[in-house]
Amino acid sequence: MGMPANVDIGSSIWVGNPEFAWVDGVVLNVKDEEAEIQTGDENVIVARLASIHPRDVEAGPYGFDDMTNLHYLNEPAVLHNLRSRFEMEKIYTYSGDILIAVNPFQELPDLYDASKMEEYKGVPLGKLSPHVFAIADTAYREMVNEGKSISILVSGESGAGKTETTKMLMRYLAYLVGHTGSGGRSIEQKVLEVDLKLMICTPLARIVAGTGQSNPVLEAFGNAKTVRNNNSSRFGKFVEIQFDRGGRISGAAIRTYLLERSRVCQISDCERNYHCFYLLCAAPEEEIEKFKLGNPKSFHYLNQSDCYELAGVNDANNYLTTRRAMDIVGINEKEQEAIFRIIAAILHLGNIDFENEDDNALVKDEQAKFHLQTTAELLMCDPQSLEDALCKRVMITPEEVIKKSLDPLGAAVSRDGLAKTIYSRLFNWLVDKINISIGQDPNSKCLIGVLDIYGFESFATNSFEQFCINFTNEKLQQHFNQHVFKTEQEEYAREEIDWSYVEFVDNQDALDLIEKKPGGIISLLDEACMFPKSTHETFAQKLYQTFKDHKRFIKPKLARSDFTIVHYAGEVQYQSDQFLDKNKDYVVPEHQDLLSASTCSFVAGLFPAYSEETVKSSKFSSIGSRFKVQLQQLMEILKSTEPYYIRCVKPNNLLKPALFENVNVVQQLRSGGVLEAIKIKCNGYPVHITFSDFINRFFILAPEVLRGEYVCYEEKVACTWILEKTELTEYLMGKTKIFLRADQIAQLDTQRSRI
Ligand code: ATP
Ligand code: MG
Repeated sequence: MGMPANVDIGSSIWVGNPEFAWVDGVVLNVKDEEAEIQTGDENVIVARLASIHPRDVEAGPYGFDDMTNLHYLNEPAVLHNLRSRFEMEKIYTYSGDILIAVNPFQELPDLYDASKMEEYKGVPLGKLSPHVFAIADTAYREMVNEGKSISILVSGESGAGKTETTKMLMRYLAYLVGHTGSGGRSIEQKVLEVDLKLMICTPLARIVAGTGQSNPVLEAFGNAKTVRNNNSSRFGKFVEIQFDRGGRISGAAIRTYLLERSRVCQISDCERNYHCFYLLCAAPEEEIEKFKLGNPKSFHYLNQSDCYELAGVNDANNYLTTRRAMDIVGINEKEQEAIFRIIAAILHLGNIDFENEDDNALVKDEQAKFHLQTTAELLMCDPQSLEDALCKRVMITPEEVIKKSLDPLGAAVSRDGLAKTIYSRLFNWLVDKINISIGQDPNSKCLIGVLDIYGFESFATNSFEQFCINFTNEKLQQHFNQHVFKTEQEEYAREEIDWSYVEFVDNQDALDLIEKKPGGIISLLDEACMFPKSTHETFAQKLYQTFKDHKRFIKPKLARSDFTIVHYAGEVQYQSDQFLDKNKDYVVPEHQDLLSASTCSFVAGLFPAYSEETVKSSKFSSIGSRFKVQLQQLMEILKSTEPYYIRCVKPNNLLKPALFENVNVVQQLRSGGVLEAIKIKCNGYPVHITFSDFINRFFILAPEVLRGEYVCYEEKVACTWILEKTELTEYLMGKTKIFLRADQIAQLDTQRSRI
């Protein structure tokens, strides 16, 4: 990244290493494009100059609180700084106004307790050790004092700690609002501590409780154990807390994005389905009997994986906690009964197997018939209609309307489709309900929004979900780049330096490739979905043709239907085979009719009958396009706010404390935009060093400046003297700082090390 190192014999450097990403060393010899290096572990190696970065030997063992103070702002320095701090259990580090949080995978003593919150109250950012509370505090002050809306964007890969970070932000805001004003604890705060149920009494408390208690509810229905995280959020979330003029909370809203639907009926080994299914299977005896449940191992939607229990998690207790949280967010007893009845119905639905009779699907055996009967009972619909809806399709030809039987495979697909539709409608109902019960403030002046959304993903196989997730991250990256660019410009302006040196790194071309209308991938996908004869192969061919000269698009060699997008964070190869199916957000009319006729008003309410409006638009509805619109709306909100960024980092894939894997972390820094931000700086003058720091570090190059007649000069003059002596040109002189290019500081250090 950035400038080539100024490599001389004797220079301290970092050199690229496949196992540790970077190792330290000292240059012994330089020849052509290569250097001979003695590494820290006493090996002598030869490396290309391009893989070498200068190393700051004076960076102390505790690292910098703020990485913009690193004299060498390069990838190995950033990595080393985070690592040294992590080893001291300092999990938070700033990079300017960006907070980097490395997941400790253990409870660190006193890190989040009340006295810690008190400590950070009203203290300017940077005065105390980096902390998520400091970000929340600064955001809150900025909102109150400057009347601005704020967004806090929390990102990182699965298991990096986004959701936990979000909870800490919320906890701090609730604490602040409860503790500001009259001094001491507010009534609301006391109530909050005394009895959850009482909280409903005051509007503020209701909101704080609502957003707090919405967590257990949304987590029960939207989180699951995956290989990456035992409590992985399978949806994106933007929580918006609204404030009145006095800085008091006056309302809140939760928006969710793209719940992973496929998990309802398909899970991989070592993973689990959504928590709620296991909670319900661990419910008190009378519920189990009422819903004809039993061992989770007996249900197809759960037994595809051998994982049922989670270490340290008690599903039976969590069932009760979830019920209580549901009470608090205003979901009444009757609704709760209906919700869990539907969850049970989905489990029974999954056990309806089919057999083949002349290519027609029939419900298999007595066992399957029992589950069919039970599903119908629980959903309160007619069993025969359920069977028809699963096994038959109505075909409308110009001549007549006929009912055609599906084959067993088709019926199973139909069954799983029904399960996914019911589940995602239920999840949306929960979100709507929570929003109604917390209450929005239509007159709110300012808001603090917190975004907890999936980070960049690149797996061995990547499907439509990864495509949408990475699209989201491209969008957020652009927003981030704009922000970094703006703050850099502001720093130049403060120092009264011309800011045309700051270059803007843009990914608009990647966004165009994905979302341009017409002609982008999403548009082409929608077209393919509307055209009955398309297959994923014809779709892929269309992509190959359309984008053959696009810089961000690659047709992988030998690929028949895969395609690669060059994202800002690297290349991702997508398998297009399920793109068409996964993009279709189409509820089969047979399913719609079945459930809107349910005698349970809750179930029927999830499937409102078609209105004129929906008939028109229901011809084709695409998940990709709808998601694009949702994302557009989110970006509009973000653009109208002051952003704060928190980048969560997962130090290892074993989810273990005190283990920091360099290669893993570097990868995340690259894809999380942290290094991208640094790149923006490196394009111009990345080293911003105050006059006094500069004198301390380099007076030795011109010791006379601190002697005799020169001493009375101001710092700026002394710096100019030193710089003249070093014969450095083209540096920038600000009001309080000198701006240097990466190679310039390296050059100065080399000169200094020779003295
Ligand atoms: P996903 O994208 O899968 O939802 P995530 O980024 O939201 O992942 P979290 O669920 O917040 O990840 O964190 C994963 C786990 O890491 C937590 O369950 C917890 O055990 C641990 N963890 C995260 N942050 C902290 C922290 N600050 N202190 C202690 N443990 C933490
Ligand atoms: Mg999460």
